[in-house]
Amino acid sequence: ARGEGGTTAAAVDPDKLAWRTQSVEKRIEHALVRGVTDFVDQDVEEARQKLGRPINVIEGPLMDGMKVVGELFGAGRMFLPQVVKSARVMKKAVAYLNPFMDAEKAASGGTGRSSAGKFVIATVKGDVHDIGKNIVGVVLACNNYEVIDLGVMVSVEKILETALREKADIIGMSGLITPSLDEMVSNAAQMQRRGLTVPLIVGGATTSRLHTALKIAPQYNGPVVYVKDASLAVGVCNSLLNDRANYMARVRAEQAADRENYLGRDKADLLTLADARSRAFATDWAAADIAVPETLGRQVYLDIDPAAVAEYIDWSPFFWAWELKGKFPAILTNEKWGAQATELYDEARRLLDRVIRERRFGLKAVVGFWPANAVGDDVELYADESRKERLATLHFQRQQKRKIINPEGPYYSLSDFVAPKSSGRADYVGAFAVTAGYEVEAFAKTFRDKGDDYSAIIVQALGDRMAEALAEYMHKQVRVQCGYGKDEELSIAEIIAEKYRGIRPAHGYPSCPDHKEKLTVWSLLDVDNTVGISLTESLAMNPPSSVSGLYFAHPESRYFEVGPVDQEQKSDYTARITSKKSI
Ligand code: SAH
Repeated sequence: ARGEGGTTAAAVDPDKLAWRTQSVEKRIEHALVRGVTDFVDQDVEEARQKLGRPINVIEGPLMDGMKVVGELFGAGRMFLPQVVKSARVMKKAVAYLNPFMDAEKAASGGTGRSSAGKFVIATVKGDVHDIGKNIVGVVLACNNYEVIDLGVMVSVEKILETALREKADIIGMSGLITPSLDEMVSNAAQMQRRGLTVPLIVGGATTSRLHTALKIAPQYNGPVVYVKDASLAVGVCNSLLNDRANYMARVRAEQAADRENYLGRDKADLLTLADARSRAFATDWAAADIAVPETLGRQVYLDIDPAAVAEYIDWSPFFWAWELKGKFPAILTNEKWGAQATELYDEARRLLDRVIRERRFGLKAVVGFWPANAVGDDVELYADESRKERLATLHFQRQQKRKIINPEGPYYSLSDFVAPKSSGRADYVGAFAVTAGYEVEAFAKTFRDKGDDYSAIIVQALGDRMAEALAEYMHKQVRVQCGYGKDEELSIAEIIAEKYRGIRPAHGYPSCPDHKEKLTVWSLLDVDNTVGISLTESLAMNPPSSVSGLYFAHPESRYFEVGPVDQEQKSDYTARITSKKSI
């Protein structure tokens, strides 16, 4: 049986009901701290009658209870999933009280409730990810902030107009992919041009303290603060609103120090492009074991069994989305947050069972293989085995930063893992795009509309997990189709750890950081029309629970970081991607 925190267990287990004999204030506190929604309406009604006005319930026992939650959270005795569950209780209580507040207002023109501050939050233009942003919104809301969430792909005009109209106290911008960094820089500059002074908070996977100090903060004279974790957002907002001068003096000093350290940093020691190329990863192509795919061209999979895909879920990142650190399954017995991780996991499994049973997600995949050969740091893809008609060219960059341990290299480029045209060997490269579909957000919305952000965020995180699992599942099918996967004897855990032959690098990641190359994959696989994933102006994939990349089968293919490159390589790369010969 689940613990007391499980909403229904509390209702059925008589031993767990001792708290019901306490005062109504204590019961409300208990419900908030434990995330128990069962008795909210009756307790809140009792408190309303006792305290006279609905606002007294909110500003009394409900706020007091949330303060306890905040304190336990701050002391590391409660964790993010529980806070979001507490928010669910708070929301239910406020929803119950709202009609009474409206009636009071109508009768007396009385004032509404006061908030700690108004917070306008958005995922920036071109970006679609919002799990972290949603968590921040919920945590702030349950700390009495009025949160205006503008959603994803929000232009700076809309963010600033809303902030001005609503007299926002703080603006929050979130982003997941690297192009969003530039968007944030230009948004900050726009805030300066429009003469704003309201604080700007930036967060999300792509943002960093250094980038904020180096690139964003210098654009805007108002406060600019990087928030690393959703759990830190409340503290930052409170400091900005209640102790701004002291707090910003500290933040600005840290940012100045970050800029100074960066400038004083040793410049990366780079090989010349010619040197790096001469120290490329080398292999004996004449003797190389080259895998030949059974099927060339595009294959579309629309009716994918969700139960089979779910086997490949890598659960660890699910917990990271909730800021619970560690590896699955050890995380379930973690000394500090094992119980909470287990509760979250049980809830996620329950929702996943529903996703599978009711076919809630729209799992779709498109994969393809083409005859391919490397030409320099490019890889040419051909229409057929005659290798006469070039379909497309994939462009790659090469490592140039001198290696401390192995100064002789290899200095990798992904093109190294494909037989060069000059070798005379016939090689192949693949590409893929998979998604859990817009159905993820539709399912999440059914919970959000009921005030249940906890389940909504779990569903969104499961969408990402299923998309990643589908990428793993398709990679497995592909290895079988290419022959070398037929006698692969790996456990699911080993597959999730990517112990198999071959790699599937994703554009925007360190081996192939240029997001623009996704456009080539999109045209090769007709991704928009086959599986319905589109690219935003920043080349983010929409729907958000989507994964795409390339397949390389070379036994020694591996992930690496391209890292810093010199001006010569930058010009060379630009010339290659803009060359008419390439497609
Ligand atoms: N099992 C994980 C998979 C995502 S992380 C999950 O469920 O979240 C691993 C993936 O990230 C790889 O399969 C590859 O697609 C991508 N990746 C990791 N390092 C990379 C690199 N250096 N260059 C390109 N892609 C990389």
